[in-house]
Formats: sequence, C-alpha cells, structure tokens
Amino acid sequence: MLNVKNISTYYGNIQALKDVSIDVPEGSIVTILGANGAGKTTTMKTIAGLLKPKSGSITFLNEDLTGKSPHQLVGKGMALVPEGRDILAGMSVLENLEMGAFQRKDKEVKTDLEKVMDRFPILRERKSQLGGTLSGGQQQMLAIARALMSRPKLLLLDEPSMGLAPLVVQDIFKIVTEINNEGTTVLLVEQNARQALKVAHHAYVLETGKVVKSGPANELLNDSSIKEAYLGS
Ligand code: ATP
Repeated sequence: MLNVKNISTYYGNIQALKDVSIDVPEGSIVTILGANGAGKTTTMKTIAGLLKPKSGSITFLNEDLTGKSPHQLVGKGMALVPEGRDILAGMSVLENLEMGAFQRKDKEVKTDLEKVMDRFPILRERKSQLGGTLSGGQQQMLAIARALMSRPKLLLLDEPSMGLAPLVVQDIFKIVTEINNEGTTVLLVEQNARQALKVAHHAYVLETGKVVKSGPANELLNDSSIKEAYLGS
C-alpha cells in the first residue's frame, strides 16, 4: 500500500534520514522502532507531507505522492496522529472530531461521528468538554478518533503510548489492533518496543536516520540484539 523508497530528509544542512526504505502492505500493522533522535518522527512527517524529502520517493496505492501537501495526502486516504497529539485545547471534543472530517464532502460525517463515539464512549460522555481538559489517555483517544473521521486507509500513529500510564497504554494498543482488524492499515512509531512488536506484523529499526534492521515482528521480538538494545533483556 505504501512504498517509501530511499528517502533522505534534511533540517537545513543536517541530514536526519539517510536512504530510508519502508514497505507497508495493505491490511498490516508495521512498526518503526528506534531510540530518541533516531529519525522516527522525521520519517512520519515526511510520509505525511509535513517535510519534503531531498531524494527518494513515496508511493501510496500505486500513485507517486512524493512532495504532495499534507491536505492532499489526507484526501488520498492518509491520516497522521502526531506525536504529542495536537488536540485543539480550546475547542470541544465534538469540534475536535469534526475537524478530522473537514475535507469530506459526503453526507456520512454525522454517522461516522456516532460510530467513533460508540468506539470511544468516553468521548461521547465528554463531547461538550474542552479538549484541553481531558486526561492524556483521553486526548490520545480523541487524536485517534479525529484521524478516523477522515476515513483513512492508512493511519500513521506517532508514539501513541507516550507519557501514558501502563493500563492506558494497554487500552491504546488494543484499540490499534481493533482498528486494524476492521480494515485500516497502520504505520506505528513507538519507543515502547515490546508492545509495538506484539501488535505489529512487520518492524523496522532506525538508528541515526538509517534502517539498520527489518523483519517480521515476531522474529525481531526474539532477536538477541533487539532484545538487548530495545527490550531491556
Ligand atoms: P524522538 O523519539 O525523540 O521523537 P525520533 O526518532 O522521532 O526521536 P526525530 O525527531 O525524527 O527522531 O529526529 C531525528 C534527528 O533530527 C535528530 O537528530 C533530531 O535532533 C533532528 N531534528 C529533529 N527535528 C529537528 C528540527 N526541527 N531541526 C533540526 N534538527 C531536528
């Protein structure tokens, strides 16, 4: 579904990604692991059109979308849940959800609003509350729900478990699996390597802007160098 081929992305003269290639098959969960500063967020931002690669290509559903703008990519079926969530703190939960559908012109937005609130009952309960008053876990759910409002084929999740309590992290990973089971392909960036490898089908490991390892997630879960570097055992 998504083929990232040899992308190199720079911040000024600093090269943050070096020839990164990633394939995301339709229907899968693919995870990108790596330490702080490895280039995970830069990879996601480049795929989502927030950063332009200096070289390489990004093909989505057999169409070359390299260099397209974020809103064009949303229109093609990609939705990014950014690191830090970017909830609109001064807008209500409902308004945040509606923002996710801002490009849609079909008549099913209301139906989808009901659907996402069925999936996340806490968001229905708090629909009139300001986004900024939600807990971290609830804000993460709102960020995911808002992305779902664009009816994505590919959901890009950047560190959804960041800063959340262990039980909430479990909930978030469960939701990611459910969304995938319902047909949405997922590209997941995580520092929580163990959890990510448990839910993912395939994984890539980034170090200083380069892919240093990739393979089926269950193989990486049992790989001794991965265990030592990322799984704490
Ligand atoms: P983290 O888990 O901390 O978010 P990451 O793997 O997502 O780490 P990136 O944020 O993609 O890493 O950063 C990759 C490299 O690019 C790092 O060396 C970082 O310092 C650098 N970098 C990131 N953002 C900028 C920026 N706006 N300007 C300059 N350099 C940047």
